[in-house]
Amino acid sequence: MIKNYDVVIIGGGPSGHSSAVRIAELGGKVAIVERDYIGGICTNWGCTPSKAMIESAKIAYDTARASEYGIEVGSIKVDFSKVAARRNKVIESTRGFIKDLLEYHKVDIYQGEAIIDSSKKVVVKHGKLDSDGITMHYTSGEDELQTKNIIIATGSQPLIPGFIDEKDPSIISSNRLISIDHLPKNLTIIGGGVIGMEFATIFSSLGSKVQIVEFLPRCIALTDVDISEYLTNVLQKRGVKILVNHKVLSIHQGQLEAENQVTKEMVHLNSEMFLIAIGRKAVVHNETYQKLGIHFSGKGVEVNDYLQTSVPGIWAIGDATGKSILAHVGIQQGIIAAENIMGKNNASLRKMDYSVIPAVIYSIPEVAMVGTVPEDLKSVKVVKVPFAINLRANIEDKKDGFIKLWIKENQLIAAQAIGHNVSEIFQEFSNMIALRTDIRDVSEIIHAHPTYSEIARSGFDYALGKAVDFHL
Ligand code: FAD
Repeated sequence: MIKNYDVVIIGGGPSGHSSAVRIAELGGKVAIVERDYIGGICTNWGCTPSKAMIESAKIAYDTARASEYGIEVGSIKVDFSKVAARRNKVIESTRGFIKDLLEYHKVDIYQGEAIIDSSKKVVVKHGKLDSDGITMHYTSGEDELQTKNIIIATGSQPLIPGFIDEKDPSIISSNRLISIDHLPKNLTIIGGGVIGMEFATIFSSLGSKVQIVEFLPRCIALTDVDISEYLTNVLQKRGVKILVNHKVLSIHQGQLEAENQVTKEMVHLNSEMFLIAIGRKAVVHNETYQKLGIHFSGKGVEVNDYLQTSVPGIWAIGDATGKSILAHVGIQQGIIAAENIMGKNNASLRKMDYSVIPAVIYSIPEVAMVGTVPEDLKSVKVVKVPFAINLRANIEDKKDGFIKLWIKENQLIAAQAIGHNVSEIFQEFSNMIALRTDIRDVSEIIHAHPTYSEIARSGFDYALGKAVDFHL
């Protein structure tokens, strides 16, 4: 069957489905082709299930402290099958919500693998990806979609080093660990980055013995050293064993061999399960792109600031572009690509701006960061305010952590924090950096009392030498 569209989007993840809705809002006829589930990695294997499980971990953690608040609950038992069932329910309702939204906007959804035949034609081979995330099961039938534009939104996949045999039963990737329905007795995580720290939080809080093996001298090396040390200590106190400066050489049937990069000693570890969390790489359909002249590199599909690839009429967004591995960046790219496609002329093309990207690690407590920490600290004021001075944190006994602010000429240039639900107070910092707000203006705005967000004003007041609620 041949169908005609303004835009065909390959991939139904957050970048793809947000773009589809925006195109439809602007009057375009649009289709999404998805070989797995609508919602992509984020809804089905990433953001949603991991945060659903972290919620169970938080409940376990808070319940263990219940007697400190005068509530006696007796001993705690984690029923992992119920944790998994709740996670699956959250995934299904999120997926259902996205499907409803797409149906409301009359977006056609095709289940199968998309193959770009030319800049004006996409062939859909009907089928569904297996739960291993690798094998495609084709059913009979194909569709031919004629289109004015194509958006590549094919996402990313876990980076697995060459020496790893993915068929080894003790090896698991971050895509699939999220779908397990039994709690591993012990779990070894290769990589102490964002995904590694989140999984260490989940599984250590639910009762697994967790160890992390990290190649670099510290975990979450992308954060300020104070933050990574703080989170490392929190996890260690919770029983997580962390080896830094260790290079993994082999993993085979539950046995890992690693080399200490400082002493050159060899280390051997046993584990029921090994999670490979050393990063993600863009999904790139090499042969097709080579044939069509779509430029790509090891990072992903190359795009300009308008999200155009090297082939007119073909666009790319989300993890597939290798610009970032964050759903909110993909969503923004999706909206901008949609508006550029549906725009009336080239003069009004909207540029993607990557300069202010907030990022969160959903550990307990959470880590949040935005802005670029300057290497040269000359004329930069660095302010560190502990949550212990914040009244709400004291009332709720969530005093762990601090915020750190980098301020230059009364403008915030970077902020990082570790503390209870810091993700929810961080948009204020993102907005300030994006809008180049003067901290003196924010310091004069009333912040509700008692709230965690008051810590922002406390920090700015302190930088200006006029803090009234604490001293250091
Ligand atoms: P994806 O969500 O990867 O979707 C791409 C889709 O394209 C897939 O469903 C795939 O099946 C489909 N596809 C690929 N090729 C074809 C083809 N040829 N034909 C048909 N379909 C195709 N990000 C955050 O911002 N916050 C978080 O808290 C967060 N947590 C995460 C936790 C984990 C464990 C993981 C793994 C990731 C997490 N991420 C998080 C990252 C986030 O999931 C990704 O940035 C996001 O999913 C990227 O969206 P996307 O639309 O680019 O691609």
